[in-house]
Parts: sequence; C-alpha cells; structure tokens
Amino acid sequence: MDCIFCQIVAGKIPADILYQDEEVIAFRDINPLAPTHLLIIPKKHISSLVRLSEAESSLIGDMVNAANQLAKREGISESGYRLVINCGEQGGQLVPHLHMHLLGGRQLSGALG
Ligand code: 5GP
Ligand code: ZN
Repeated sequence: MDCIFCQIVAGKIPADILYQDEEVIAFRDINPLAPTHLLIIPKKHISSLVRLSEAESSLIGDMVNAANQLAKREGISESGYRLVINCGEQGGQLVPHLHMHLLGGRQLSGALG
C-alpha cells in the first residue's frame, strides 16, 4: 500500500483530519493555495475520477455533502468556495487517489486552466 492518501486513511501518515464518516475523510492540504484548502477523499482507494464505477458514483454526493458541511464550519459558505476534481495527467492530477479540493477564503481567479 504505497498510496499516500490510503496511508492517511489508515492513520499511518499524519494529517489534519477535519471530518470523517463511513465513506469519506477530509483533511487540510499540506500545501494550501488558499486560506481554506481542504481535500475530501473516499476512504476506498479509487485511483481517479475516470476509474469511478457507476455503482460507486454516490461517493461524489457524499464528498460534496462533506465539503458543504466543512465550508460552513470554515465560515466560507456565504463568501463562496470552489470544488475541484483533477483527473489524469492533463487534468493536473498528481496524487493517484480520487480527491476533491475545497478552496476558499479569498477571491479565487476566474481562470480554470
Ligand atoms: P492533485 O494535483 O493531485 O489534484 O492534488 C494533490 C494535492 O494533495 C496537492 O494539493 C498537494 O498539496 C496535496 N498533498 C500531497 N501530498 C500530501 C500529503 O501527504 N498530505 C496532505 N495533507 N496533502 C498532500
Ligand atoms: Zn489510495
């Protein structure tokens, strides 16, 4: 098991964990790009969005629900925030375990790519 996010799920690598339920765990990004920069991931190892099966697709709803709760807790629900999933090399995905970025706490750039 050399997946860094699986090791965070297993508690083998420390992380600032802010939320977890049966399916999902969330923690602060180690290299924050905004005052709030969290990662929301499924506990199950799924290497990328493109590998998510139809049967697993409700995980995305679970991740969005967690993100919305966390945005509230971070006090950025009303000011606004951005959820991003990078997929694959040209999508900018570096860690091969499905994850959603929650970014907020400052005015984000209009550019998406
Ligand atoms: P990606 O480019 O794959 O969408 O984003 C991966 C994110 O994971 C990056 O923002 C990076 O800073 C973050 N990251 C990489 N390794 C670790 C780690 O060990 N701990 C935490 N908390 N974040 C990490
Ligand atoms: Zn993994």
